[in-house]
Amino acid sequence: MSGNAIEIRGLVKTYGGAKGQPEKQALRGVDLDIPTGSVFGLLGPNGAGKSTLINILAGLVVKTAGQVRIWGFDQDVNPRQSRAAIGVMPQELNLDPFFTPRAALEVQAGLYGVPKSQRRSDEILALIGLEDKADAYARTLSGGMRRRLLLGKALVHHPQILVLDEPTAGVDIELRQMLWTNIRRLNREQGMTIILTTHYLEEAEEMCDQIAIINQGQVVARDSTANLLGQMDRKTMVIHPASPAQTLPAGPGLDVTRRPDGSLAISYHTSQTSAEQVLEAVHDAGVSIRDVKTEQADLQDVFLNLTRSA
Ligand code: ADP
Ligand code: MG
Repeated sequence: MSGNAIEIRGLVKTYGGAKGQPEKQALRGVDLDIPTGSVFGLLGPNGAGKSTLINILAGLVVKTAGQVRIWGFDQDVNPRQSRAAIGVMPQELNLDPFFTPRAALEVQAGLYGVPKSQRRSDEILALIGLEDKADAYARTLSGGMRRRLLLGKALVHHPQILVLDEPTAGVDIELRQMLWTNIRRLNREQGMTIILTTHYLEEAEEMCDQIAIINQGQVVARDSTANLLGQMDRKTMVIHPASPAQTLPAGPGLDVTRRPDGSLAISYHTSQTSAEQVLEAVHDAGVSIRDVKTEQADLQDVFLNLTRSA
């Protein structure tokens, strides 16, 4: 399949509204194309609507309005084909405690109508590093193992598109690295289109070639990772002077403010100015340094910038 693995138009989701419940607009008209073969990041703060979007793709949440095409199939016209093209690793751990990993994979394959001859449970167990635990009850698995099993379950029907909802939220570094390695391998070796949601900038930066930023149910930015990170290169160096600064440092591209505690906050773009140049400007202003810290733009700053400029 060339072009887009997923095409979303005018997607709206409103929760509640029945029996006097307040209505909640989780998605407010989302248009989004996700290119085939990409590792695509859906980035946004908690409550932005990421899981809602993912769960609509997965067929787990019913949309209020809009159109979703998965692998060329309109979700409403060809629900079976569009569902078969996608595998989802959910955010919640929802495993049957009495199934072994092998049984969980077999049952999932059965649900998707994969014939016995086409099942690859052993291959998947190897991929997720659970061969040793193939016949242990799920309730005896560690949290990390359960998460890997969820990834395995998403793969049983050989989907062209793999969707991961916050795959590494709350997992340790080792497991995070393993998940990242697996995901990259699926993308590179099998050409699988990967969509992952995250609220970690670092994860999006490391994994994704393209990113959409979603905030309050709307896509506020959509670009290649390189271009987006280019807008996020603002850093602030905070200088605590040894004695109150008489003159403020100045220089091209430097934005200097004095904070109430007497420290100097110097913002600059890392692509245009080096830390050394900032320190030189401080030195040239005759300020002697007692302490230095840097503050990096975080996701919150990025959102503020994006929503302000929108
Ligand atoms: P994210 O995954 O980005 O954190 P969600 O899609 O889970 O965001 O939630 C988006 C908004 O929709 C939030 O305000 C959330 O409280 C609300 N929401 C999510 N699921 C439900 C539900 N089943 N019923 C009512 N409101 C919901
Ligand atoms: Mg979520």
